[in-house]
Amino acid sequence: MKPQADRLRFPEDEKRQPWLPLLLEIQHLSNLGVAAAIKADGRRLACARGCASCCRTHADIPVYPLELMGIAWYAEEKLAGELRSRVQRQLQLHRELGACPFLIDEACAIHPLRPMACRQFNVFNIVCASGEDAFHTRPGDVLKPDMKRKNEALREMLRHHDIKDGRERRRLVESGEVHRLAQSLRELRWESLAARMSRSRP
Ligand code: SF4
Ligand code: SF4
Repeated sequence: MKPQADRLRFPEDEKRQPWLPLLLEIQHLSNLGVAAAIKADGRRLACARGCASCCRTHADIPVYPLELMGIAWYAEEKLAGELRSRVQRQLQLHRELGACPFLIDEACAIHPLRPMACRQFNVFNIVCASGEDAFHTRPGDVLKPDMKRKNEALREMLRHHDIKDGRERRRLVESGEVHRLAQSLRELRWESLAARMSRSRP
């Protein structure tokens, strides 16, 4: 699937949710980094809509607090109808799924707000086999991130944590300390989001 080139816009929501513009900027930076890395590599990307083995095999997807706010907002306010009900059910049962709770019919239900880690994991040449984690089976086919843009996105994200000093943001990213902010997507308590979704039907 081709990475999205433009920054997403939710004008009304961005006025109401002061953290949302920063998240959308960060995602845009992340997308630009992915697009640049794919172009630099030159090979054909195997990832495509409907291909989602990675959403089952990757049990340790990092999610940062700002990303989590975005996922929760999107699930509560943008999902509707049958898709919303199915996501809600999966969030309630997520510990038994053996897959990401947002995976519905081999597609990501929160695709516009999916975490950076999901945006960045791309595989060249051939589609992953069922249960295959290409990171281990054929690392040479896994996209190497554009570190300049990836780190820029992480530095910008630290503004959400009120770290105003640019040198400190750089230090936290370059030392890897920034990753301590992340939680594993599968370990989160998604039941509470499912309950909020029940109370806030759009
Ligand atoms: S990483 Fe593998 S399973 Fe996931 S979309 Fe790409 S080819 Fe498909
Ligand atoms: S958030 Fe979306 S892309 Fe990421 S693992 Fe879950 S279903 Fe897959």
